[in-house]
Amino acid sequence: VNRELDEMRDLPAETTDGHRVHLLANMGLLTDIRFAQTHGAEGIGLYRTEIPFLAYHDFPTEAQQFTLYQKVVEGMGGKPVTIRTLDIGADKYPPYVSIARSEPNPFLGWRSIRISLEVSETFKMQLRAILRAGALGPVRLLIPMISSLEEILRVKAILREVKTELVWRRVPFDDDMELGIMVEVPAAVQVVHRMVEEVDFVSIGTNDLIQYLLAVDRGNLKVASLYEPFHPAVLAALNQVIRAAKDNGKRVAMCGEMAGDPLSTLLLMGMGLEEFSMESLSIPVVRKLVRSVSYERAFAIGQEALRMDRVDEIKRYLFSEMRALG
Ligand code: PEP
Ligand code: MG
Repeated sequence: VNRELDEMRDLPAETTDGHRVHLLANMGLLTDIRFAQTHGAEGIGLYRTEIPFLAYHDFPTEAQQFTLYQKVVEGMGGKPVTIRTLDIGADKYPPYVSIARSEPNPFLGWRSIRISLEVSETFKMQLRAILRAGALGPVRLLIPMISSLEEILRVKAILREVKTELVWRRVPFDDDMELGIMVEVPAAVQVVHRMVEEVDFVSIGTNDLIQYLLAVDRGNLKVASLYEPFHPAVLAALNQVIRAAKDNGKRVAMCGEMAGDPLSTLLLMGMGLEEFSMESLSIPVVRKLVRSVSYERAFAIGQEALRMDRVDEIKRYLFSEMRALG
């Protein structure tokens, strides 16, 4: 089986009737790049920059960050790299950030873009490093935890400032870098039709979206059984985001765990998801599934699943459809 998957590595993730999707890798450390390449990733769909930041003794400088991002861009050899700005707080704290680890509800608290917008010098430093890395290859900028239109507009204003600085400094950077937001807060789903107008792409973060939609802490074992990607409320939200993006002609990706779950592949593709970003190890199996079905069939499966109102029914249905493909 492994050899079979290996041989498929360079084949496109394309359905039997020619519908193409894209399979990308999530990464945190530079060592992940090799895995992404050997598993046939078409690019990096999520670079969690807070992961390398955890290893520093202080916020890495613009130069340190640039060197880091440069290695990623070069390591991917011309394939797109989606760099997400710092997503700290909640469960990820660099030791030098003395933020309130004692917050009673850290996942509902001071985290991610909320921190970036307040500690804006640090945010600007990261934006400069990312924009400069864009001069070396295709880089996309991804902003986490967006929960309102105002946040996007503030990010865009800061980006304009930072670009002016870079022009003034006469350093090369990508002035046309694609800007995307994570859709991982239910409020963003509700106003996604308006949000997509402000950006070039959206990436659905199911890890957080599921926990916030279902009010289930993603890290709490006691409620782990309630953490359910195939909850009809989750599927309806995903469908809403994908529709809104496509109606606006914007690219729609997913970079939460669900993107790499084979049980969801047919469903998500059928809903119209274009980019799946996952742990590299999952790419070969998802590629095999995509290549074994027609888009027409996947679309029908998506429609059918969206009509169902019970988790067990949805999962049984998806499982039987997956098995029918061999
Ligand atoms: C997500 O929330 O789905 C996601 C990809 O981001 P993280 O897991 O880093 O919070
Ligand atoms: Mg998240």
